Amino acid sequence: SWVDIREDLEATVGKNNYVNWIEPLELSGLDNGVAVFRVPTNFMGNWVSRNFGDDIVQLLKSSGQAVSRLEFSVNAARSPKRATAPKAEQISEVPVSSAPRKKAAVARSTGTVPGAPLDARFTFDSFVVGKPNELAHAAARRVAEGGEVAFNPLFLYGGVGLGKTHLMHAIANQLRTQRPDLNVVYLSAEQFMYKFVQALRDKKMMDFKQIFRAVDILMVDDVQFIAGKGSTQEEFFHTFNALVDQNKQIIISADRAPGEIKELEDRIRSRLQSGLVVDLHPTDYELRLGILQHKTEQHMLKDPSLHIADGVLEFLAHRISTNVRVLEGALTRLFAFGSLVGREVTLELAQDCLADVLRTSDRKITVDEIQRKVAEHYNIRLSEMIGPRRVRTIARPRQVAMYLAKQLTSRSLPDIGRRFGGRDHTTVMHGVKRIEELRISDSQIEDDLELLRRALEA
Ligand code: ADP
Ligand code: MG
Repeated sequence: SWVDIREDLEATVGKNNYVNWIEPLELSGLDNGVAVFRVPTNFMGNWVSRNFGDDIVQLLKSSGQAVSRLEFSVNAARSPKRATAPKAEQISEVPVSSAPRKKAAVARSTGTVPGAPLDARFTFDSFVVGKPNELAHAAARRVAEGGEVAFNPLFLYGGVGLGKTHLMHAIANQLRTQRPDLNVVYLSAEQFMYKFVQALRDKKMMDFKQIFRAVDILMVDDVQFIAGKGSTQEEFFHTFNALVDQNKQIIISADRAPGEIKELEDRIRSRLQSGLVVDLHPTDYELRLGILQHKTEQHMLKDPSLHIADGVLEFLAHRISTNVRVLEGALTRLFAFGSLVGREVTLELAQDCLADVLRTSDRKITVDEIQRKVAEHYNIRLSEMIGPRRVRTIARPRQVAMYLAKQLTSRSLPDIGRRFGGRDHTTVMHGVKRIEELRISDSQIEDDLELLRRALEA
């Protein structure tokens, strides 16, 4: 019988493979030389067929069965036996999905899946949304619903400290509570590589593959790390494909766009681009202020005695770089300082205690400098910037310069107007308004502004 043959297979394939691959097989029919097995997933069928197919056929034959071929049919209901079958090696990680599973989902949980621990503070509630990250946030929210796979993979990219990891943890944290039936695995590309190398070394590649292919939602953070790492890249690609084929959600982050990750194989790059690619833009003033306010409110819940003077947060939002981690660090120090000195945190106090992180000197940015930098950026002449021509290619940069002059200098509108070839203050006001509108509808303008602001404040 199959059960006897199965035991024989154990000797051939080894204990681990037996438990992971052979034991869960259910022989459901033997007809016309075809042995039909029920398997929980397509992947598993393919795997067994490719790796143990010949052995199985041989053993069936030698037990007197006229078998020449195997077939695997995916068992939709999935045998509950599977629930405990593949023993994932516990490599000191915290399983993401540890809540008791609902009955219907029992078969899905392939024991514990290796992932990195989640930071419980990284939730959607603690993530402040602004223009620069609203798209990434919306996409993350969508994925966190755990419903139908709308885009695969979701590729999030952006500079350091802009919230990629936070968003990924937020997705995992939400799924952990709302969809405990799903196997959600989050890990960094570096950890992926580490596990891969470890599996190679311990000759546990089969386990490795089985574990990763049994995941429902896989998140790999900082994928740029595996660029140039040949076999890890290869394995990642296979894992990726196996999961996409099973319609499992994948979420990837990187510090740059797929097209800009050098030493990534073309086929991997194109797979990474095949879903939804969204970037987290550098934070702008409004978002920084929002984050500072949010974090201050949170802190005040714990320490109601904290008092921050008006204008301090605004000042920090202006003067600290776009990296949110730096922003947080500054705030933490400020809070500590405030409670230490036991009085209101004033602007002077803030300047004192944060002197090292505050951007630039107190050097005043001039309208003249702004005009030059903006002209340079848009490749127009300075004389055109202040001249009378009103074609769009010149008028738009002019409006950008007016806007920056209003934002970064303390000049009045009439004063700014005078410096733009003697224009009226209403013209300046109109220009500023126009750019404010464009910032909402045109992300290019937003990028230009951020770039220029940084160049000017450098
Ligand atoms: P990345 O992975 O992109 O380098 P992180 O997700 O680690 O950045 O974010 C760095 C820090 O900034 C974290 O502490 C995170 O909570 C915080 N952070 C980033 N963006 C936001 C945001 N929009 N709202 C609140 N906190 C944020
Ligand atoms: Mg990160």
